Amino acid sequence: MRTPSAPTDCFIALGSNLGDRHANIRAAVDALAKLPGTELLRVSTIIETEPVGPPGQDRYLNGVAHVRTTLSPRELLQHLLRIELERGRDRANSPRWGSRTLDLDLLLFGDHIIDEPGLTVPHPRLRERLFVLEPLAEIAREQRLPTDGRTTGELLESLRRGTLVASVRPTIG
Ligand code: ADP
Ligand code: MG
Repeated sequence: MRTPSAPTDCFIALGSNLGDRHANIRAAVDALAKLPGTELLRVSTIIETEPVGPPGQDRYLNGVAHVRTTLSPRELLQHLLRIELERGRDRANSPRWGSRTLDLDLLLFGDHIIDEPGLTVPHPRLRERLFVLEPLAEIAREQRLPTDGRTTGELLESLRRGTLVASVRPTIG
């Protein structure tokens, strides 16, 4: 049996642009609250945003949830992927960054830095996405990224000004 670890504060991005978007986000939040060893602390304002990625998509609802969990990063990711599937996410038949009933991304897992096949934390595209940084900074403005020590509030201001620091490379992959 795995030794229970100390609870870790995590931030999870919520997104939906297919089907009943509000119901999808609500179901995701409910499912997060029910995860083993996990406490749901806060959910940001849910905002409506323009789609990024392939053209012709509908607008998204986006938000961020703050949870405290004794799950490992891998266990938490497995649960996120399961919750997506239970909400009808069909990865096989949709292009990358195409429409989805539910997208759950692990943004931050305490101050862990993880770079493994299938799991990168902090989330690699966090800094380039207003639709992630706005809700994240709303509920965790002083939270620092373990990678460069900047707060989510600072990252949001940088992105708004379009002055990403040199160490921040926009990624496409
Ligand atoms: P995106 O969320 O960038 O639009 P997808 O949701 O289609 O892309 O892809 C998710 C895949 O990315 C998952 O299979 C997962 O293994 C991988 N992945 C890597 N890091 C993370 C992370 N921090 N959060 C969620 N998924 C991640
Ligand atoms: Mg995802």
